[in-house]
Amino acid sequence: LAKQSRPSGMRFYDPAVQAELEAKTELEHDLRLAIERQEFVLVYQTQVGSEGQAIGAEALIRWRHPCRGSVSPGEFIPLAEETGLIVPIGDWVLEAACQQLVVWANDESTRHLTLAVNVSAKQFQQPDFVVTVSNILSQTGAPAQRLKLELTESTVIGKVDDTIARMHQLKALGLSFAMDDFGTGYSSLQYLKRLPLDQIKIDQSFVRDLHHDPDDMAIVQTIIAMGHSLGLNVIAEGVETLAHWRYLHDHQCHAYQGYYFCKPVSASDMVRQSLVPPRMPIC
Ligand code: C2E
Ligand code: MG
Ligand code: MG
Ligand code: MG
Repeated sequence: LAKQSRPSGMRFYDPAVQAELEAKTELEHDLRLAIERQEFVLVYQTQVGSEGQAIGAEALIRWRHPCRGSVSPGEFIPLAEETGLIVPIGDWVLEAACQQLVVWANDESTRHLTLAVNVSAKQFQQPDFVVTVSNILSQTGAPAQRLKLELTESTVIGKVDDTIARMHQLKALGLSFAMDDFGTGYSSLQYLKRLPLDQIKIDQSFVRDLHHDPDDMAIVQTIIAMGHSLGLNVIAEGVETLAHWRYLHDHQCHAYQGYYFCKPVSASDMVRQSLVPPRMPIC
């Protein structure tokens, strides 16, 4: 149809491309409605310290679509970024995470837990982002000292000075910063030196084959050593096995996150599972 209605010279019509476009438009339409339909939930993945004790969690968004089922963030976050919908979605995430922090703050056994929240580049770069975070903190009453924002290298690219200034404004509220997926973007030691970061997260792609890939071993050791010398806390993500944990532990990584300890689950399940810290067998 498109073929006939197009003026001559514009005869290209690819049903596969067309179908993909339509699917994307439909997903976007559903995504727009998802907030008001309350289809988003947060799940929580424990972060453990050197003894395997729970020190905090990362909040990860899930979209429970009435027909599609659970849509993974890998599928809809890129579209949300492209369409700008990441801004209201990101605000929702921050608010829900802060409400969770308040719940934890009210209980002796959970009040020490920190909560890390992913912030996409577009969200961070909104002119009113600092005001938004500040409002959410005061409206929820969440302890800012327990809130950590995870940025990626894409936030920093080409906007180093702006990013630094904004990070300082946010840190003045009491929160802290982690650099997510560290080593996968255009990591520059120049910006690493200047950004007011508190933590770097070793990307899971370096952890996966840690047992048998000497290159990954070298990269992981280098990131940890650099973190130590720059005074940054280092957390490894994608810790799936005891061997991963042991290697990272032997090399003085500070904290760990991954399926070996806990999958992302509801807040109550996360806390329940954290009551029994994993032990590293002595050998
Ligand atoms: P991320 O922030 O790097 O999150 C870590 C991802 O690794 C999560 O995937 C988590 O479920 C997964 N993971 C955790 N432990 C393991 C493990 O041991 N092995 C493996 N293979 N994977 C593990 P998830 O939840 O699908 O999220 C994917 C990405 O989507 C996140 O990567 C983050 O970039 C983005 N994302 C998730 N929630 C949000 C959000 O609320 N806001 C924004 N802007 N992005 C989000
Ligand atoms: Mg993250
Ligand atoms: Mg990551
Ligand atoms: Mg990732």
